[in-house]
Amino acid sequence: MTASAPITQDVLTLPRKLPEGGKINLVGLTRAQMHDVLIENGTPPKQAKMRVGQIWQWIYQWGVRDFASMTNLAKAYRAQLEELFEITIPEVVSRQVSSDGTRKYLVRIAGGHEVEVVYIPEEDRGTLCISSQVGCTLTCTFCHTGTQKLVRNLTPAEIIGQVMMARDDLEEWPTPGAPKDETRLLSNIVLMGMGEPLYNFDNVRDAMKIAMDPEGISLSRRRITLSTSGVVPEIARTAEEIGCLLAISFHATTDETRDVLVPINKRWKIDTLLQALADYPKVSNSERITFEYVMLDGVNDSDEDAHRLLDYIKRYKIPAKINLIPFNEWPGAPYKRSSNNRIHAFANIIYQAGYASPIRKPRGEDIMAACGQLKSATERARKSRKQIEAEAGVSK
Ligand code: SAH
Ligand code: SF4
Repeated sequence: MTASAPITQDVLTLPRKLPEGGKINLVGLTRAQMHDVLIENGTPPKQAKMRVGQIWQWIYQWGVRDFASMTNLAKAYRAQLEELFEITIPEVVSRQVSSDGTRKYLVRIAGGHEVEVVYIPEEDRGTLCISSQVGCTLTCTFCHTGTQKLVRNLTPAEIIGQVMMARDDLEEWPTPGAPKDETRLLSNIVLMGMGEPLYNFDNVRDAMKIAMDPEGISLSRRRITLSTSGVVPEIARTAEEIGCLLAISFHATTDETRDVLVPINKRWKIDTLLQALADYPKVSNSERITFEYVMLDGVNDSDEDAHRLLDYIKRYKIPAKINLIPFNEWPGAPYKRSSNNRIHAFANIIYQAGYASPIRKPRGEDIMAACGQLKSATERARKSRKQIEAEAGVSK
């Protein structure tokens, strides 16, 4: 093929950092990364900070996906951005709406993998439950995601892209110049979808920084909750580097039972975990740690369990709220949900001791969107734990 006519570039020099065969996705880059990538590709260094601010607002405040619409940038510059960059989020493969209004999305990410995202509307808020990994390396015995073989970490673009996708579907991007609407359909984010967020720490952090950025999606850090099964070494970093609220998948009150239900307990025992929670830098009465406790018939739901749970929380002086989750069944699950009477009796013991003990209402069960029911169909050979941890940069 003969060389095509040279491209005239008023603003940008020729790109030096283009990935092979494609454009650079600007979604998911931190401000610093976007700054560097613009300069590397020809934006004059003196202008870069301002350009990042402008592009950032277009992408995250207004939800714009094409450079041509970025009207406060010079036309020639817009055209050149278009040549080099893209603004891409995961593609929605399917969308199901439950009889209770819960929406479950299946989104496709690079490599053809799929993850699930759930939107839960409530009276005074709307919560988006997002995924941090395809599948999960951990194998909690009551969790459907834990049976999925294929695992890969999501990139920051794929994580924040789930939020952008939901705002698209809810038609919630503001129009420039329109009055600011304070009621948000998507007001909260929970990292409670597929995957263990603390085994993908850096990417989750970078994505949540974007979600919290005041010039973008602008969600308060108190409206973001990260749920972990108990990756102890990463817990303090969550407060320091993300600053969001924390939920712990506690689920058992003896090491013996927790070793089975949440096998990461074999590595970090209950006492080690509780000490890390007691030390959580941000914890206070207004920012209590949520203890998630799945109610499994005859396994962890006795009165003794409730008392042991209280003893732990008191001994370690952890400002806590206990969120009781009726077990959501999935095909082949080895457990049964505790009876309503049992769940209420358990909740009552905790409540009487002065702790909030809400019972989570299962949402979207008819579309298998409830907690722990997520599992995408794309499964391949299981990678070794070592391989995944090496990729995730998990320190031992
Ligand atoms: N990996 C993280 C976050 C995803 S799981 C974690 O484990 O915390 C989100 C919550 O759903 C966790 O508390 C998890 O224990 C709970 N869960 C998993 N499977 C469930 C099921 N079948 N029924 C009810 N809750 C479940
Ligand atoms: Fe992974 Fe959380 Fe499911 Fe355990 S409960 S297998 S950590 S997603």
